[in-house]
Amino acid sequence: MECSKSLSEWNKSQKIIPGGVNSPVRNFSKVGEHPRFIDRARGCRIFDVDGNEYIDYVASWGPLILGHAHPTVVHALVDVVHRGTSFGAPTPLETELAQIIVDAVPSIDKVRLVNSGTEATMSAIRLARGYTGRDKILKIDGCYHGHVDYLLAKAGSGVATFGLSDSGGVPEDIARNTLTVPFNNAEAVKSTIEANSDEIACLILEPIMGNMGIIQPKDGYLNQLREITEQHGVVLIFDEVITGFRVAYGGAQSYYNVTPDMTCLGKIIGGGLPVGAYGGKNEIMNCVAPEGDVYQAGTLSGNPLAVTAGITTLKLLSEPGVYQKLEAKADTLATGLAEATKKNRIDACHSRVGSMLMFYFTSEIVTDADGARTADTDRFKDYFWGLLNKGIYIAPSQFEAGFVSLVHSDNDIQNTIEAASEVIAQM
Ligand SMILES: *Cc1c(COP(=O)(O)O)cnc(C)c1O
Repeated sequence: MECSKSLSEWNKSQKIIPGGVNSPVRNFSKVGEHPRFIDRARGCRIFDVDGNEYIDYVASWGPLILGHAHPTVVHALVDVVHRGTSFGAPTPLETELAQIIVDAVPSIDKVRLVNSGTEATMSAIRLARGYTGRDKILKIDGCYHGHVDYLLAKAGSGVATFGLSDSGGVPEDIARNTLTVPFNNAEAVKSTIEANSDEIACLILEPIMGNMGIIQPKDGYLNQLREITEQHGVVLIFDEVITGFRVAYGGAQSYYNVTPDMTCLGKIIGGGLPVGAYGGKNEIMNCVAPEGDVYQAGTLSGNPLAVTAGITTLKLLSEPGVYQKLEAKADTLATGLAEATKKNRIDACHSRVGSMLMFYFTSEIVTDADGARTADTDRFKDYFWGLLNKGIYIAPSQFEAGFVSLVHSDNDIQNTIEAASEVIAQM
């Protein structure tokens, strides 16, 4: 496959951008070689600067559930851009997006828009601390919540892939207030909260782990967390930056019917532009400035471009049958991949919730981050390159989710299954 132009771009970018990329997971170093530089995309297809075409399952790491350059989203953006890109003053569009989110997500009475998932989790935690007057926070090993200092302890794919237990540049004093327990272990949460009674402000987690592969909550786990946190006045925060509007219109909390106190959103709610949001109960959200004393602000927060892409995307997702369609497509793909590994006797643990799916090269079922860490990453490398050379683009890491969008056709999915089966048969 021709990739000389990508290579030349890579040589240029590496000199002036750290690692040649503006976000570490885009780098192909964990699969060896250089990333493909992208020229454009449409529907489920991306085209690199050498003119190669790929069926895309990265979807910009989740946001593009309608596919790339969806005509309705593009038209709405073109229309709104002529009216100015940011005013630093409120607009009716922001209220419209907030209303859609409040109507969709059970835990959210009020919501504040920010510019990224990282900002959402950082602000939610500040708020939980301000609301409870407590300093410590509890997180789950392998859950990623953006690059917030105190959330980089045991933080999933990017960090896991790069073999760092922690990031440099995070003072011990800051990391000290972050406690970590394994996923799918409610007992560990209970004993940690009891051992630090009245000191823990919040428990933050991805209700479905999506940054260390895909790890699903065991039956009753999220309910148990709801009970324990409620008993101890610990704010329960679901980080639904990936799962919000992905596994169901109302996110994982409606999929599993468990209501947290606060929710963080991002990715899909920006329709491919930079947006994040955090929201929750009135009682908590009323502590945010200027109503309350917990400060949080943003020059470009709620700008009309990002908000318009979000509104347009969420409206299309609210149409009847959308999630059934996504489910059916993803199920066909996951079933095809599982048949391929089984037939060829390749150890694999397949994981899918709604339209997010992946598999680990492990012999055991993965239920927490330690289980995920046993995956055979060399084998993944072979799988990744096999697929890429057949025009199938998945994330360059064993520890990432794949995303099916509404525009993957039956044909695209069959072609993907065939390509993957051929690659797996040669392993
Ligand atoms: C992507 C992600 C974030 C960070 O969002 P950014 O927009 O990249 O800052 C936070 N939490 C989860 C669960 C994510 O998947």
